[in-house]
Amino acid sequence: MARSSLEEVQSPVTIWKEEDMVDGRKVDAFVVILRTTGCWWSRQKGCLMCGYNTASSRAVTASDLRVQLARAAERYGGEKMVKIYTSGSFLDPNEIPLEVRPDVFSTFGAAERVLFESRSEFVTDENLEGIDPRSAVAIGLETATEEILRKCVRKGFTVEDYTRAAGVLKARKVPLRTYLLLKPPYLTERAAVEDAIASVRYAAPLSESVSINPVNVQRDTVVEMLWKRGNYRPPWLWSLVEVLRRGKEGTGTRIMSSPSGGGTARGVHNCDRCDRKILGAVQRFSFSQDLDDLEGLECGCRREWAGLMDLQDTMGTSVDVARYLGDELELG
Ligand code: SF4
Ligand SMILES: [Zn+2]
Repeated sequence: MARSSLEEVQSPVTIWKEEDMVDGRKVDAFVVILRTTGCWWSRQKGCLMCGYNTASSRAVTASDLRVQLARAAERYGGEKMVKIYTSGSFLDPNEIPLEVRPDVFSTFGAAERVLFESRSEFVTDENLEGIDPRSAVAIGLETATEEILRKCVRKGFTVEDYTRAAGVLKARKVPLRTYLLLKPPYLTERAAVEDAIASVRYAAPLSESVSINPVNVQRDTVVEMLWKRGNYRPPWLWSLVEVLRRGKEGTGTRIMSSPSGGGTARGVHNCDRCDRKILGAVQRFSFSQDLDDLEGLECGCRREWAGLMDLQDTMGTSVDVARYLGDELELG
């Protein structure tokens, strides 16, 4: 944002309500994205899929944040869970100054759980000292494969950094939600599925919940550039179902997904005939954790997905093969 009006810096980016789980119970959740100075990493190199810095402003001050909180309070209806997002790290004192933290928690007095996001480097004993006991932290690990994290996500921290942060949270009994990215760029569909499943296996024992975030093509990102050239296709919903199904096997950790942009060209999608049905099943499973919710899903496009997985393997490419070959492509 080149110039920031007072109205902008004093307004949360957005507010909405949804449902989530606290201690195995489904609860109403209040979600607010606060406008902050933004993720420091996005100003350096930034993650390849991330366009969040467009929602930030370098001009936001502590008093602006307090006005944003007052505005959020007007919409808060006593929901048991509150999620505070910042398009960056809540625990970065440059984004949420330490003196503002108590105001955040007191604004949502009725909440049993306050979830916020942070990069791993800010999750330290020193930085968590005195943090409200209702806190839960979400960390975007994205993938537990070091090389993919470095080259296909460009995360700017390592799997070891995440593991250390998870240990800090565990010692303090602060619940951890781990985000995993389904289908970073440059991976074939099958490699993306296998990597996400391996990452669930790694992160689940360290986490209270694992959220699978299928790539949503955001504006002004490397992923968008690849997508526009036909070198990237967001993951199939069949891939997401596969990751949830196989990832859930053998773990008591909640495995969930709430895809943004699901069923659109920029988000996780199959075909017009089945997108809504499958997104509904994913949502049901995310709460029930009952694998039966993912059974019996059928559509003609499933064969196309399976065929593409094989074809990409054969051709040794991660490009959006269907977009290049169009009608010449007969799969299944
Ligand atoms: S994905 Fe998170 S860590 Fe990466 S640039 Fe965006 S806000 Fe920062
Ligand atoms: Zn379909």
